[in-house]
Amino acid sequence: MRALGESAEEWQQMLRTTNESGTAKTVDFSGKRIGQITSAAWLKTRPNGSSQRGFDKALRTVAVLQTTLELEPLVRLFSREIGASVPHSSLNYSNDEPAIDLTVGRVARHLCTFRLIVEKQNLGQVTFTRGKPFNEKESALLEFLLSSLAYPLRNAVQYENAFQASLTDPLTGIYNRTAMEAALRREICLARRHRTPLSLIIMDIDDLKQVNDKYGHAIGDQLIKAVAEAVCGSLRETDLVSRYGGDEFTILLNNTARRGATVLAENIRKKIQGVACQFENKTINVTVSMGVASLTGRDKHIGLFARADQALYDAKRQGRNCIKVVGATK
Ligand code: GH3
Ligand code: MG
Repeated sequence: MRALGESAEEWQQMLRTTNESGTAKTVDFSGKRIGQITSAAWLKTRPNGSSQRGFDKALRTVAVLQTTLELEPLVRLFSREIGASVPHSSLNYSNDEPAIDLTVGRVARHLCTFRLIVEKQNLGQVTFTRGKPFNEKESALLEFLLSSLAYPLRNAVQYENAFQASLTDPLTGIYNRTAMEAALRREICLARRHRTPLSLIIMDIDDLKQVNDKYGHAIGDQLIKAVAEAVCGSLRETDLVSRYGGDEFTILLNNTARRGATVLAENIRKKIQGVACQFENKTINVTVSMGVASLTGRDKHIGLFARADQALYDAKRQGRNCIKVVGATK
């Protein structure tokens, strides 16, 4: 890590306002944990403007930050804990991978930004804002206090990554069955509370086993991916598509009644008819069958799912490459 306050230009770079285009200060916190520094060592090397009380405060902050692995509470706790030492209006934490952009407090005009590195891992950046500029002492203190956040933040980012992975299907990148089941429960509650319609489409690829047997599993995988892409390209942002398992997908449509769901299902079916992948100069096409059901007054999540699944079964029995809608007159 570089020494604090190496040059005036550096400090100027660190203390930027919304009108300036200076860069954030990059700080490598590897091996730098407040909990590992003794009070005596601290007194020798403390940053400008900090005191024994500041060190005790930082130690307390470390202890508080151990209480959660979730990003939002962690950032909120950190902001609250250090607020008395360095007053600020807002704190933003942003990162590219996983994509995170969370702000606590109200954003103000003057910024002080740090880019964080821990154990060679780029941990994104932390930006403090407030109505008046941050001075050098405060920036040095913020940098010191950030060393109590760095490792808990790294753990929280890893936890967030693992959490996202637990909800994602690795082949297609869309939600998996776990995510879908949680979403279905949540959306049914919301639909009931706001008295809005909710529909569910269950979709299954036709004769995928034959494709696997004839062309190999890798081609079957390609078709599953192509189908997922075609579906994703047809949906609104609020619609939730998941690979429920094998070659079966679910599409959950909030604020959508049976009619709208039927039109969408038919559009997706037609679109997928045009999907193809190549194998040794051959074009392999794919079709899907779908069951569509909409929430009724008595449905629990199992009821809605079971009715859509029954409709899918009927579509398969009717000859595949078609949709069946629960309660439709024909
Ligand atoms: P149907 O029209 O009745 O749906 O026939 P199907 O051959 O698609 O059979 P079904 O849906 O009952 O079973 C799913 C098949 O999809 C079984 C398996 O061969 C294949 N499958 C399931 N998961 C995967 C996967 O991850 N990759 C590939 N390539 N194939 C899969
Ligand atoms: Mg199938």
